[in-house]
Amino acid sequence: MRISQRATTLHPSATLAISATARRMRAEGIDVISFGSGEPDFDTPDHIREAAVQAIREGFTRYTATGGIDELKDAVALKLKRDAGLSYTRSQIMISCGGKHSLYNVFQALLDPGDEAIIPAPYWVSFPEMVKLCGGTPVFAPAAEERDFRIDRRLVEPLLTPRTKVLVLNTPCNPTGAALTRTELAGLAALARERDLWIVSDETYEALVYNGHQHLSVAALGDDAYARTMIVSSLSKAYAMTGWRIGYAAGPAEIIKVMDGLQSQMTSNPTSFAQRAAAVALAGPQDSTRQMRLEFDCRRHAIVARLQSMPGIRCLDPQGAFYVFPNVSGLYGRRTAAGARIASSSAFASFLLETARIAVVPGIEFGSDAHIRLSYACSMEHIEQGMDRMAAAVATLQ
Ligand code: PLP
Repeated sequence: MRISQRATTLHPSATLAISATARRMRAEGIDVISFGSGEPDFDTPDHIREAAVQAIREGFTRYTATGGIDELKDAVALKLKRDAGLSYTRSQIMISCGGKHSLYNVFQALLDPGDEAIIPAPYWVSFPEMVKLCGGTPVFAPAAEERDFRIDRRLVEPLLTPRTKVLVLNTPCNPTGAALTRTELAGLAALARERDLWIVSDETYEALVYNGHQHLSVAALGDDAYARTMIVSSLSKAYAMTGWRIGYAAGPAEIIKVMDGLQSQMTSNPTSFAQRAAAVALAGPQDSTRQMRLEFDCRRHAIVARLQSMPGIRCLDPQGAFYVFPNVSGLYGRRTAAGARIASSSAFASFLLETARIAVVPGIEFGSDAHIRLSYACSMEHIEQGMDRMAAAVATLQ
């Protein structure tokens, strides 16, 4: 008996695998510091947890409407109006089991076998795999380090073919932290209009921007951009709600309706009481998110400064999210004390895990073998200790 080709050719999430390895090592008593996980170390704010407890006490524990409760859809609409000036009705909003699930529904709704989706690279690990699961072909637009990992229409235009159907944007970006400007977004929106493309705008890290950058949704750039954009976002990062599994999509009602149908056959509704809590998170006070952003910003400064001070490593200052994506290729060709030659991001990540007991994700998983990704969603103490260990390990390379 054989397992399906679709399932066996899928590349499982490397970021989740690294986190699992770090967890396993810790359980074995090994003192490993993990920079692998894309998960805030903060607890979900109290008022959000209380809302879930109250919902459970009230017996709000049954199936809900597949695409989410009206209360949460209204909270999403309020949030999009408040933060982006965008108007959406309930029929244009759908709630899923995390932003990942929302994205998968969107790609399922938009892509036919053979359709091409433009994905800026470096990319978040799940975009290409999701596109492939839907029968589509990922086409990578180079967001080069020399250009601060940014893309604009000039880089995308040469990649378009009659089969191009979707343009994926992820600003701020996981893994690079690059946040696109109004000019870049406007150029890309114009290109989407000229070539009649859907835009999938992943805004999961919208609340986490630094250096005075203002997040801008491409959907806010005019009626045409609004009509061809599916916004996807999540409560995981901005509200420290990774385990609650609530994400949402907002866009044209015709697509939301199709996604609702898909979800009705795959998972049904996201967890009832988590939806109630998510509504409180989005519509309630935003102080805890602002506080977390300030804390991430301090950690960002600390980790960037430490990485920039290590010989052979180059690190740009990210404008958003909670990752740094240093270029470590200056160390390639050097040898470890045991004589092994470092020649790739995977080899360097293994060296760091074995020698320094720190977990990072090899850049190859995000489409660049010259880099590694570190999440700074961990305590300042871990950052300091981890960077001490990394600097000491790098100093041993010959
Ligand atoms: N989009 C991006 C760019 C991400 O980095 C993640 C999580 O790491 C997600 C979407 C999905 O997050 P979740 O499924 O937890 O909502």
